[in-house]
Amino acid sequence: MEKRIFGVEIEYGIIFTSQGRKTLPVEKIVRYLFEQLVTTEGFLNVFLENGARFYQDTGYHPEYATPECTNPIDLLRYEKAGDRILEQLRQHAEERLQREGIAGSLNIYKNNTDFIGNSYGCHENYLVDRNANFYYLAEQLIPFLVTRQIFSGAGKIVQDKRYGGAHYTISQRANYVCQKISGTTTNDRSIINTRDEPHADEENYRRLHVIVGDSNMSEFSNYLKTGTAALVLRMIEDDFVNKDFALRNPVKAVKDISDDLTCTRKIKLDNGRKMSALDIQKEYFDLALKYMHTRQLSPMEIDILQKWGYVLNTLEKDPFKLDREVDWVIKHKLIEDYMKKHDLSWNTINDNVLMLDLQYHDLRYDKGFYYMLERNDLVDRILTEQQIQEAMVDPPSDTRAKIRGEFIKLAKEKKIHYNLDWSYIRVGNLLDVRIMCDNPFQTENRRVTDLMRIIEKSRPSRRRFRLY
Ligand code: ATP
Ligand code: MG
Ligand code: MG
Repeated sequence: MEKRIFGVEIEYGIIFTSQGRKTLPVEKIVRYLFEQLVTTEGFLNVFLENGARFYQDTGYHPEYATPECTNPIDLLRYEKAGDRILEQLRQHAEERLQREGIAGSLNIYKNNTDFIGNSYGCHENYLVDRNANFYYLAEQLIPFLVTRQIFSGAGKIVQDKRYGGAHYTISQRANYVCQKISGTTTNDRSIINTRDEPHADEENYRRLHVIVGDSNMSEFSNYLKTGTAALVLRMIEDDFVNKDFALRNPVKAVKDISDDLTCTRKIKLDNGRKMSALDIQKEYFDLALKYMHTRQLSPMEIDILQKWGYVLNTLEKDPFKLDREVDWVIKHKLIEDYMKKHDLSWNTINDNVLMLDLQYHDLRYDKGFYYMLERNDLVDRILTEQQIQEAMVDPPSDTRAKIRGEFIKLAKEKKIHYNLDWSYIRVGNLLDVRIMCDNPFQTENRRVTDLMRIIEKSRPSRRRFRLY
């Protein structure tokens, strides 16, 4: 597929630290985050003007799902826009709680694990052709997905209860992966999820749901994570991957690779060979270079290829040199600098070091440690601030999210009842229309345009705007 739809879903961690006697359970606190967006108590589910979805599923982890994007840069823009939107909602929620006499600080973390052993996800969605052999595609992609953590892992301190010390791992999610391929996303966490919900015309499309990745703070890691995945996916679809990287035990490999900061530990392949994560990535990269000479790649794909080559090269020389680019390395440096300053070691870490690991993922732009590095120009960026700000309010211009975003803006302005999902828009009451939008590449829909003309002429309703 040369043209593809991408989407990312991010579940966030929430902590409320009460400063007074009055407090609330976290499930009640989460509701305050939705207060500015939803007026109906029961449904914590809303689509935003930029075409994204913000909702509360199981557990207490609010989730932001980006609108449909056509390329990894847009995907990054809309994911970062989600982080900023969450930060605005957090500020509002904290103030509201305070006004109700519940003083405290509300923190949101873009990570994948909490201190008590829960994990929450970062799901990538890639549109694939219905006619492709889905299981072949998944099998071919898995060795790539298992090994790409060496540049896309978000890093994590793992406490070693037996020895009282701790060690650092590359990935947040690795220890929670327990299956290769699964049908659900919550209990049996896997590398690829096979639930067949394309959010598109199911005759033509399928949605590949990758659930093994970490949520990223670093723009560079994030861009490379989905950018390289898209490139490898394209090569697999094109039958260009002629090497067998099938891993003997992919679930164990995820953990073994995460535990090895040198990225060179050998992993067993099905065919008896032994290769390190770096070896496997380098082979995929070499294939991609050959692919470039036989196909027309977009400038963005070439940029991804160039950054991929640079990262693999540097990982080979010394992974710790990537302390401006790669999440797990950036955070590792932050932690080691702190430990050095306070005369601590991995055997003697204290709660402050564990907090540092957490605060790296804090979404507050003025207090989060990742953002502190970003403000001081200590990490490399891919986006400009303006690109992110625009993505907070305007939908992508080249997918059906455009139709959705423009519709939502108008419907809110005119205060009409509506109800929509990724692939339909419905207006109840007198109009009672339901319009299918099951082509995610479509940027205009005549029926929606006609409907919007009618709505434009209407006077704003005096009723309160409601979603359902
Ligand atoms: P769950 O949270 O249970 O995994 P889900 O994966 O069905 O739910 P959402 O959380 O609503 O769905 O997120 C869907 C994501 O898929 C969004 O990021 C969206 O942009 C993206 N998306 C929508 N349509 C398509 C499509 N046809 N192909 C690929 N991605 C899509
Ligand atoms: Mg979801
Ligand atoms: Mg999902």
